[in-house]
Amino acid sequence: MERGKRGRPFPPRHLADLDLAERRAAVAELGEPAFRANQLSRHYFARLSCDPGEMTDLPVRSRERLAAALMPELLTAERNVSCDAGTTRKTLWRAFDGAYVESVLMRYPDRVTVCVSAQAGCGMACPFCATGQAGLTRNLSTAEIVEQVVAAGRCLASGTLPGGPGRVSNVVFMGMGEPLANYRCVVSSVRRITDPVPGGLGISRRSVTVSTVGLVPAIERLAAEDLGVTLAVSLHAPDDGLRDMLVPVNTRWNVAEVLGAAWAYARATGRRVSIEYALIRDVNDHEWRAEMLGTLLAGRLAHVNLIPLNPTPGSRWTASKPAVMERFVRRLEAHGLPVTVRDTRGREIDGACGQLAASSSSAAPGKVPAAPGKVPATPGMVPVAPGQVTVR
Ligand code: SAH
Repeated sequence: MERGKRGRPFPPRHLADLDLAERRAAVAELGEPAFRANQLSRHYFARLSCDPGEMTDLPVRSRERLAAALMPELLTAERNVSCDAGTTRKTLWRAFDGAYVESVLMRYPDRVTVCVSAQAGCGMACPFCATGQAGLTRNLSTAEIVEQVVAAGRCLASGTLPGGPGRVSNVVFMGMGEPLANYRCVVSSVRRITDPVPGGLGISRRSVTVSTVGLVPAIERLAAEDLGVTLAVSLHAPDDGLRDMLVPVNTRWNVAEVLGAAWAYARATGRRVSIEYALIRDVNDHEWRAEMLGTLLAGRLAHVNLIPLNPTPGSRWTASKPAVMERFVRRLEAHGLPVTVRDTRGREIDGACGQLAASSSSAAPGKVPAAPGKVPATPGMVPVAPGQVTVR
């Protein structure tokens, strides 16, 4: 088995890790004609199938061999929980090495969004986010990210989600982890998600959002990739004093630097950047901060997305009062900014922003598989020094 730098085994290789040329080479290495790569790709990316029994356009022997070599099961659904009359559904996944991640599927009248994880855990240590409390376990592979979207697609195609059969229209990298700290795999998963069939799933680039704490060199690199995805920046405070505490990586790249990179991204892509701001009662919801934020963002290609803080275990912090939120919105609007208050789906199932902790114990009491690596930490509200940031 292949191993990474720290002796950790890599997730098994999967079709979705490879682009079309690499898939052809992999198929040829297995002694099959290269065109089988396209056939396999159609099964996976168009029919969302990895069942050799359904691959009737391939010889029986080839199917078994190719599926075994290129479509290993990467994620096993450990548990599904739903709310909002079944239209919000969180899945806890167990990876080959016992690492846990979660993804959340949300059906709205006009779209279906899947929120995917880019890492098992997170190293960014934001004190108000449940994922940040447990630390980083590991990066997910490209295919482990793509599989979360494919699984959501299967769920919709099967018609089991209320509302009848459908398709995934939007993908947001707002689950567990810091997407830009797993740069290479996140970028190739975006390509798999947006490339037309048979290269990928053919989801519109405009409907994919990558959210970041603000890793400036990675934002600059992303701007140069020509991916056309929407960038979301988790700002949460307009002043460095407070942001150093709420988003510890701010001590490395401050508010001015993060926003500078965001505007460069907007210029390069022509896309409005989404500024994420969790409203935390008496912490960052003061009117003077709204004013300061408005001044920073005025005239920029930006959209402000306010998120009433979702409670996390052990936290004293809570969402701002409605009247305070209202004032905050009005202050920003006075600067001509488009502002939305996020309809936070999935609170009851700990599936809302910042609530993904993916502990097997909370998900399945009494049935805790031996998970190597992380024991879910007891979250406290003590700000932690910035985790080691690796941008590759
Ligand atoms: N690491 C990336 C991706 C996670 S996205 C990022 O931080 O952008 C999850 C979004 O939810 C981020 O904007 C994050 O700051 C926000 N969030 C985290 N904890 C939250 C909480 N308890 N309540 C509301 N939003 C939260």
